[in-house]
Amino acid sequence: MTDTTLFGKIIRREIPADIVFEDEHLIAFRDIAPQAPVHVLFVPKTSIATLNDLHEEEAQVVGRLVFAAATYAKQQGFAEDGYRIVMNCNAHGGQTVFQIHLHLLAGAHLGRFGVPV
Ligand code: AMP
Repeated sequence: MTDTTLFGKIIRREIPADIVFEDEHLIAFRDIAPQAPVHVLFVPKTSIATLNDLHEEEAQVVGRLVFAAATYAKQQGFAEDGYRIVMNCNAHGGQTVFQIHLHLLAGAHLGRFGVPV
């Protein structure tokens, strides 16, 4: 199925993005509104709206996002200092783009998270 979200448009080069990595499975680009000194989004090329729509046979789609993020952290030299990965789901999770994606946040002590608003 075609990803009609703005992330699909980035994958198809219909809108610009600061792309830092791409392979046949996924793309990674800098978040337009960074929440940390390093804030990169990892997006699969398989169209899946939310984590609620992920089927067991697609579990490797998420595994590839995590592996790509960890590899990027090592390559960029901040893996030992540490980082955070986040996947938001639906309204309570704060999801705004309905194509699953992983946030990689790094470059500073990030503090606690998960406080209800
Ligand atoms: P989420 O809220 O988990 O769905 O994350 C969506 C993320 O996409 C947010 O952190 C936005 O800042 C980011 N975003 C929205 N538009 C763009 C864009 N054109 N390029 C890069 N990141 C974007």
